[in-house]
Formats: sequence, structure tokens, C-alpha cells
Amino acid sequence: MRSHYCGDLRKEHIGEDVVLSGWVHRRRDHGGVIFLDVRDREGLAQVVFDPDREESFALADSVRNEYVIEIHGTVRNRPEGTVNADMPTGEIEVLGKELVILNKSETPPFQLDEHQQVGEDVRLRNRFVDLRRPEMQQKMRFRSKVTNAIRNYLDDNGFLDIETPILTRATPEGARDYLVPSRTHEGSFFALPQSPQLFKQLLMVSGFDRYYQIAKCFRDEDLRADRQPEFTQVDIETSFMDEEAIMGMAESMIRKLFNELMGVELGEFPRMPYAEAMNRYGSDKPDLRIPLELVDVADLMADIEFKVFAGPAKDPKGRVAALKVPGGAELTRKIIDEYTKYVGIYGAKGLAWIKVNELEKGAEGLQSPIVKFLGEEVAMKIMARLEAKNGDIVFFGADKEKIVNEAMGALRIKVGMDMNLLEREWAPMWVVDFPMFEELDGGNLTALHHPFTAPSCSPEELKASPVDALSRAYDMVLNGCELGGGSVRIHDQAMQRTVFEVLGIGAEEAEEKFGFLLNGLKYGAPPHGGLAFGLDRLVMLMTGSESIRDVIAFPKTQSASCPLTDAPGEVSAAQLRELNIRLRKTP
Ligand code: ASP
Repeated sequence: MRSHYCGDLRKEHIGEDVVLSGWVHRRRDHGGVIFLDVRDREGLAQVVFDPDREESFALADSVRNEYVIEIHGTVRNRPEGTVNADMPTGEIEVLGKELVILNKSETPPFQLDEHQQVGEDVRLRNRFVDLRRPEMQQKMRFRSKVTNAIRNYLDDNGFLDIETPILTRATPEGARDYLVPSRTHEGSFFALPQSPQLFKQLLMVSGFDRYYQIAKCFRDEDLRADRQPEFTQVDIETSFMDEEAIMGMAESMIRKLFNELMGVELGEFPRMPYAEAMNRYGSDKPDLRIPLELVDVADLMADIEFKVFAGPAKDPKGRVAALKVPGGAELTRKIIDEYTKYVGIYGAKGLAWIKVNELEKGAEGLQSPIVKFLGEEVAMKIMARLEAKNGDIVFFGADKEKIVNEAMGALRIKVGMDMNLLEREWAPMWVVDFPMFEELDGGNLTALHHPFTAPSCSPEELKASPVDALSRAYDMVLNGCELGGGSVRIHDQAMQRTVFEVLGIGAEEAEEKFGFLLNGLKYGAPPHGGLAFGLDRLVMLMTGSESIRDVIAFPKTQSASCPLTDAPGEVSAAQLRELNIRLRKTP
């Protein structure tokens, strides 16, 4: 139907007869001449209809926005003074000779350039229109380029693309499962995979050596952050490679991607142990674009009268941390109050601060509600440790370690963004040496990554002191976002059983849930490891999008529903009967 894409027409096509197919982006009537901007996936072309071709002129006059049309015409120079330098096709126009209306369109639910006014709900409900916007077209195309480049890289490096089941058993990654009732096995359910983790490990047992898959994963989580119930991972597993080799391979893939698709040189990714990241940034995914750091001051506070600081300073599970913000003395009371509210979201009970006005004057030169409780000596020692200068502000967090890390870590980012302190555009890194386990509130342990991650110690050491054990896991972090993560896995049955034991998963339960993995580990499992990248997040960062919803063609809302299809939906009584499911009456 078409000879050229609208957006591809250039000066070299002048004089050529062309056939264009696309949508009416805009129609303008300029004193007897009709201009149609015709849009297709490559861009816009201006088509002109003169009244001397009566029939096509009348048709051109009748079309409305978003009609689908076919145009036969000749490319020509735009008249002098009408060249549009902002448009790739701005030097030419098409003299329209024939117009066919292929399909009409009702008035669209919103005009493409008015998407901002209508709100995301309307956009998602009418996603087929929303996706016509050039910005969304660009994002989807970019996403396709990313997956293509990833596939090429992995293919060039000997990785095989192997699919794994969607209807399966629970694959624990720490979220709730999406369940699918089985019709043929009454009362039994499939779980949708939270990741292909166990299958990719079994593929290593089978000798495939290098596997990848661009895989859908399903996690029924409370969607507070920018998450989706189904999302896409670039899932990778290898045999006979240690963490160095795996990280090196993954890092060079990401470097190549940024270089090829964006001309960005990311350089070597620095590595940081988990403990150091928590200590300096209060986060296991630090945003290294921001030069601010948390500094421990508990030792200076332990003996003061002021319980707010002295309490956490003496508590082995407490932390007292200071965050110096250069130039922050100019922050107004109102902004400080806002920050106080902000840290409250993370459980902090308040936000103490000291403005450094005239350091030479000692405590006199410090403006703060808390200096009188600290005393001059302690206050000045803190200033010295922080190397504070006149014009700085210092914020303090004192509480349980977890609260201080979360609150002060988040404050660090917020202040850094608000004050425009970002030092560079891209800050990739690796976080390594994660603890194996995390202690839950009741004292139970849970795997920080997943229970198939290898510890860096022996089974005996692991059993003796599980909370101190480190794992052979690694996370790739970019600009404060976790881009991907993985680990060297346990390939030894005994070690795997020990980990289950430490996690309080008894032999019977382990057999019931993961028997197939344990079985696989019995028959010559090679040393193996891998990682998975969050594709949506990667594309979001690369395209500078605000949400992963902007880089997913048909995303779900924050409440895990789809406004377009109205899923999830009710099903008929007959379907439920077939599945042997009876719904409990809701009161
Ligand atoms: N399966 C892990 C995840 O989904 C990634 C990995 O360990 O390879 O986070």
C-alpha cells in the first residue's frame, strides 16, 4: 500500500511519485488550500491539496483527526519561507493527487498532544491511542532496540535462548504467588513463576552451560513503589563461571548497550560491599551521583544526657548518623519542616539539625535546637569529624539502625535532588558481599536474595553463625536503582539442605516444595551462577522515563488492574464449577 514512510521523506525524494499510508495528525485549511499532516510510525509528512483536483480536495476537506488514509502524490520543495527546520521532513511536502479514506475514526478520547491533561487512567484505558503518541512510539522502538542488542550480545557470547514454563510451582523470590486453578486436578493450583530461577539452574544441570531468556515474571506484591505485577527480566545463567567472570560479562553487556544505543561511556563499575553501602549511604542501592554521605557519630553521643541520641548510640541495634549538606544553611524553616515530615514516612520520629553559621565562634556560631543538649565539646567534635564549614547544615538521624538507614538514606537523595547536587549523569556500580540472611521482626531468618544463593563460607560456619554469613551475591545498581542482581548458586545438595534448615524449612517441606531441584543437584550439578536484569527498569532509565509504566506497552495500574481490558474480571458460575471453585460470599 505504501511506497515510503511519511517520516522518511527527504530532499532526495523531490520529484518522486509516492504512496503514503497513515493517520491524519492534523488538518489545516489555509485559504483554499488544505494541508494534512500525515503520521506513521516514522514521523509526519505535510501533504497539500489544491482545489483544482476537485475530488481529492473534497475528500481532504472531509477527513478528521486520526482517519486512516492513503495518499498518492509527488514530493516537492516547500515554498521559500515555509521550511520547518524542527521537522525532519520539514524541507519537503507532498502535493496530494489522490486520497483514499481507508477508515474513519470517531473523535479520539483525547488529542495526542493533550495527553497530559487527561490523566493516566484515561491514557491507559485508551492505550491504543496513547501509544500513537510519537513519544510512546519512540519508547517502544527503543525498547525493541535494547532487547535486540541484548540478544545479539548474548548470542555472540554463546548463550542459548531457552523458554521455561509459565504454569509451574511456586518459585520463591519473596513475593506472593499468582495462582492458576487446575481444572484437571481438582483443588490443585499452578503458580506463575516469580522468576525462572529453578528452571535455569536445572538447565545448568542439563549441561546447557549458558542460558538466557527474556522472561515474564509474576509477583503479587503490594504495589507501593513503581512495580508491576508482571514484568520482564533478562534472565541469565552460566556454568563454570565464578562471580568475577559473571559480573564482568554482565557489566560489559550493559556498557556495550549504553555505548551502542546512546553513545554513553559508562567506564568500569566500582564495587562496594553491602556493609559499606549501608554505612555510607543508608541503602543497598546507593545513588552515587549524589556526593553526600552518612557519617556515624554514635561514639560521640553515647555519654550525653540527651536520651534521643544517647539511647540509640548505646543500643547495639541502634544508629546515630549525621548527614552534612554543603551550602545547606540557607534552607528555610519551611523546607526543614518538610524534610522532617519526609523522614517521618520512613519511621523517623524527628529530624535534628545544626546550621553552621560561624564555626570560629564555637557553639555560639552554630544555629540549632539541639546544640544546648549536646554541649559545646560534643558539638564541636561532630563538626570536626564532618569537616563542616560555614554555610553547611548537618542533619541527624538517631533510632534503630534500619530506620536511620532508610530515613537518612532517603533524605540524602531528596536533598541531593532538591539542591541539584548531582555530579554526573550516570553512576553504575556493583554491590557485593551481601549477608546471606536478614532477620525478620520475630527473629526468624529470611534469605536476602533467594535460598539458592551460595554462602561464602562452609555449611558448618553457616550453621554456627547464620546472621554473620555473607553470600556470593551481587547487585548491579544504576543511579540508585537496582538494575539487576544474582549470585553464584549452591550446587551441592548438603549445602542446600543446610540453608533450608537455617531458614526453618524442614526436610519434608523442602522435599515437597523443591524436591525437583534437590533431586537435580544429586546428579552431577556443575558449579553455576547467573543474574537477572529488570528490563523495564533498564529501559526506563535509558529513556529518562518517570515510571516503568511508560516503557511497557500495556501496563497495569498501581492497584494491579488493567483499565484497558478491565482485568481482573469476574468469571461465570459455569467456569468456576468446572474448576471446582466456590466463592465465599462477601458480606
Ligand atoms: N532469580 C533472581 C531474581 O529474580 C535473579 C537471579 O538470582 O538470577 O531476582
